[in-house]
Amino acid sequence: MYVFKSIASLQNDLRQGNTTCKGLVNACLSSIEEKKHLNIFLETFNESALKQADLVDAKIKAGTAGRLAGVIIALKDNICYKNHKVSSASKILENFTSLYSSTVVERLLDQDAIIIGRTNCDEFAMGSSNENSAFGKVLNPVNEKTVPGGSSGGSAAAVAANLVHVALGSDTGGSIRQPASFCGVVGLKPTYGRVSRWGLIAYASSFDQIGPLTKTIDDAALVLEIIAGADEFDGTVSSKPVAEYTKAAPNKKLKIAYINDCLDNEALDPAIKNNITKTIEKLKQQGYTVDGVDFKELEYLVPTYYVLTTAEASSNLSRFGGVPYGYRSKNATDLESTFKKSRTEGFGKEVQRRIMLGTFVLSAGYYDAYYAKAQQVRRVVRDKTLAIFKDYDIILMPTTPGVAFEHGSKTADPIKMYLEDIYTVQANITGVPAISIPAGVNEQNMPFGLQLMARPFEEELLLATAKHISAL
Ligand code: GLN
Repeated sequence: MYVFKSIASLQNDLRQGNTTCKGLVNACLSSIEEKKHLNIFLETFNESALKQADLVDAKIKAGTAGRLAGVIIALKDNICYKNHKVSSASKILENFTSLYSSTVVERLLDQDAIIIGRTNCDEFAMGSSNENSAFGKVLNPVNEKTVPGGSSGGSAAAVAANLVHVALGSDTGGSIRQPASFCGVVGLKPTYGRVSRWGLIAYASSFDQIGPLTKTIDDAALVLEIIAGADEFDGTVSSKPVAEYTKAAPNKKLKIAYINDCLDNEALDPAIKNNITKTIEKLKQQGYTVDGVDFKELEYLVPTYYVLTTAEASSNLSRFGGVPYGYRSKNATDLESTFKKSRTEGFGKEVQRRIMLGTFVLSAGYYDAYYAKAQQVRRVVRDKTLAIFKDYDIILMPTTPGVAFEHGSKTADPIKMYLEDIYTVQANITGVPAISIPAGVNEQNMPFGLQLMARPFEEELLLATAKHISAL
């Protein structure tokens, strides 16, 4: 069987005739079937994937193939692909078929990638463990007793289990980076406005970004290069030119900061703390400036995130009412009961909790106390984070406080689950780019990631530094 190492070596092997797209698709489909018990895929797109494989094989022969020729990609189940189902892992969208393709999918297909299927995730991307899917939990391929993380848990697990070469996820508060950390793969959240959200089912529109989960940093760079950039269908996307991320080279004179309280956190797994401390020492030995800085707003990050994202979600999810599309309750008798019953029966518990919380913080009596206040805190957090970036090029921190936890161990206590996001939400609140790279394993052999953040639109520097650190 073909062993995938990187997109660059795959391209080489395809050109040399060592493998074919059709062979790759068939092999991936059989591996997915073999690993069915992990519940990673909600559906595979056999017919369209095999058709695309034939087309791309012909292009390779003719020497006209694109930069992602033969790369087999899985989509998180909230990214639209024309004429294919998409459900956001929710009963409310079960059997819904996309009428158009997201911009990211079009750009991948333009470069001859092959989309193999849609992966399981937390319902409407709300969760940190993939246990909120309406279609069952995903097992972490590294240790099946544990969760793969969330909400892009299926995407991270698909890459980790070698079922695909690349997967796309979405990251609103850590949903690419946290599962990447739990499954031992690379996960990149681009700057807000770097990648089009056209065709991404919205959770919290001012936080959401699509990004890649990959085996290598170079692969993440290449996928970003292809999916990033202006798009007439999304007014929040920047028209800044897209750099050649694949050519990003390490810069020795970088200044790196870490936030003191992040490393002093009692909840931080000692293995992760140890690993980061060693990385800091190595960087210092190489002549990098690495300093601890204070960031007093740390304790406000998770509350700010949950006030603002639930507010945005309550508005975004108001479109699902059983009328224009999606699940419609059979028990409804009139218009009002159609809305009520369809939403009550169609949405899962966590989604309902967030819609109610979001509606509450936006309600006339509490708007100023919660929503307006959280917006103000968001501004302070952004200003303070950008102030660190005046003196430093990169902020280094853990991706998660711990490694993958056992199924069911945090479901009873939402606050415990929300605290999983302590290190990841800062990048979404401020909009800066962030990456999680595999950093090591703890005593139980469970992987964890190291996270880097950079100034807005400095993905080049982010990726270059990530490469340097991963080679230390
Ligand atoms: N775990 C976070 C949450 O539950 C992040 C979700 C995300 O990034 N989509 O909201």
